[in-house]
Amino acid sequence: MAQPTEPRIVVALDFSERKALEGFVEQVDPSLCRLKVGKELFTSFGPEIVHWLQNKGFEIFLDLKFHDIPNTTAHAVKAAANMGVWMVNVHASGGRRMMEACREILQPFQQPPLLIAVTILTSLSDDELQEIGYSSDAEQMVKRLASLSKDSGMDGVVCSAQESAMLRSALGDDFALVTPGIRPGFAAKDDQTRIVTPAKAVEDGSHYLVIGRPITRADDPLKALTLIQQELNNGVA
Ligand code: C5P
Repeated sequence: MAQPTEPRIVVALDFSERKALEGFVEQVDPSLCRLKVGKELFTSFGPEIVHWLQNKGFEIFLDLKFHDIPNTTAHAVKAAANMGVWMVNVHASGGRRMMEACREILQPFQQPPLLIAVTILTSLSDDELQEIGYSSDAEQMVKRLASLSKDSGMDGVVCSAQESAMLRSALGDDFALVTPGIRPGFAAKDDQTRIVTPAKAVEDGSHYLVIGRPITRADDPLKALTLIQQELNNGVA
């Protein structure tokens, strides 16, 4: 993939009510952010919500983290591409053949979505990883799965901003790093513990920043977005 395209900010639309979602969307601008549609929103409202947002000019990260046999996952990715989303993701632990099948099925698309892999969910502790049967710790697993993702044709991975510097140096500039857990200087931490400011995340190599509550719960979402953009432009870490 080429260098990151603007805007780098991807707002996580974690809304359960359509009305609240619509009220929020009316206040933000596609030139300042892209939007992330996750499992809750998609399961509640279906593809129509994606088209509704696209008609308003927004590019969409469809965050459904597909994980299944290669054929099924690839066809889910194709369905996402047919919807015209900007980014879609799968679980790297689905394995090389699954990821390669996803890459392959996107070949005919003139403008395929960015195909991103999830390595290890940051919610999993080292103890939980052991319990599942992984013998390495989270950091080693992230590195291993990110490297496998790149070899299998993925455009990048979702990772914690704290892993960005390590992955950037291991995998190079041409591999997209998409990072949640971002908190600008003016915002509350909420339930995020390992947080990084927007400017620090970009400095460490993140391409795209997934930010939810500091924008969605702000009294003035457009102002919050603009402040974050300024923080990025000024490189305030
Ligand atoms: O509101 P907040 O900025 O914490 O939202 C971050 C978004 O990124 C949420 O949609 C959350 O599910 C997602 N996410 C995360 N941490 C991860 C992976 C995804 O916060 N490790």
